[in-house]
Amino acid sequence: MKVKDLVNKGILDLSPYKPGKPIEDLERELGIRNAIKLASNENPLGPSPLAVDAVSEILKGTHRYPDGNALRLKECIGKKFSVDINCLTIGNGSNDIIEFIARSFLSDKDSAIYSEHAFAVYPLVIQAVGAEGIEVTAKEYSHDLEGMKQAVKENTKLIFIANPNNPTGTFLSPIEIESFLSDLDRNIIVLLDQAYFDYSSYNNEDINFDLIKKYPNLIISRSFSKAYGLAGFRIGYSVSSPEVADFLNRVRQPFNANSLALVAAEVALSDDSHLKKSLEINLEQKKFLMKSFKELGYECIPSEGNFISFNSNGEALNLFEALLNEGVIVRTLGVYKMPNHLRVTIGLPEENLILLDKLSAIS
Ligand SMILES: *Cc1c(COP(=O)(O)O)cnc(C)c1O
Repeated sequence: MKVKDLVNKGILDLSPYKPGKPIEDLERELGIRNAIKLASNENPLGPSPLAVDAVSEILKGTHRYPDGNALRLKECIGKKFSVDINCLTIGNGSNDIIEFIARSFLSDKDSAIYSEHAFAVYPLVIQAVGAEGIEVTAKEYSHDLEGMKQAVKENTKLIFIANPNNPTGTFLSPIEIESFLSDLDRNIIVLLDQAYFDYSSYNNEDINFDLIKKYPNLIISRSFSKAYGLAGFRIGYSVSSPEVADFLNRVRQPFNANSLALVAAEVALSDDSHLKKSLEINLEQKKFLMKSFKELGYECIPSEGNFISFNSNGEALNLFEALLNEGVIVRTLGVYKMPNHLRVTIGLPEENLILLDKLSAIS
């Protein structure tokens, strides 16, 4: 038996997503205990302390299955953002949702469009279901929406837009998004991935979920992994028309979101002060880091996220390795076709100072 003759065509050449190096791995390798991870865009402040308390309260009940419909979390999201709970789909991280969408709408006869330098998971899920991925050249590191529209083919079923985008941090205004949607064929599903939306300078009044009423082909996804600080719990959601949500919920595993994550997300959503503090620190430190990178001679791509990608002046791998040896984990961007850039997550003030200190010593 040859497994490779049996495996689905799309899976055969699939290279798995490469996550940032875990802190524990680096600490073990270097024999140190104070490594700093600025590689996966996590919230450096940690989870909401209220969420942590709530989760510890329910640990004793974890012999029970979670609520497969995630009703309580859906009610919290629905109330907070004024959306009907039938529009919601809960994912084991928003990556789970990205996969539901690919599995629900794409087959080997279809194509899907995404931007160059956009989130690496899009081409992976497209390939995994055997569909054709169409990558559209970016415009100044941002999505070229006009180009993406022109790339639409007869068999195009799905378009991915990350806003803000990872790893470039670029942001499309609500007006640009809406103008793109308004003259796009309604038979093409658009995933607007807002994993970093909370960090952007726009807020929910500027782009609210009512857009899905006007555009039934639109799905908006959000994550609790970034600003809400719950990456380890794996929880995210999407807002779409009830009809789309119904299909996404059909491909969803019955207990995809675990009980601890459900409670953590509910409580995190109500902890406005932790979110506010997280966003404030991010904004202040972003300005500081941008200025400091510039002073060190590294040009940054302006970012609306909790990370900054900077041009390493041809030294990306050397800097990456040298920082690793100093106990600082950042991210190379070769898979994003940005081999000259490094991406750093905006950390706590003391972490950023260490990063800059090491960087200036190496540079
Ligand atoms: C981090 C990230 C996600 C999803 O993260 P989850 O942890 O699965 O919610 C989605 N989109 C982009 C662009 C991201 O960077």
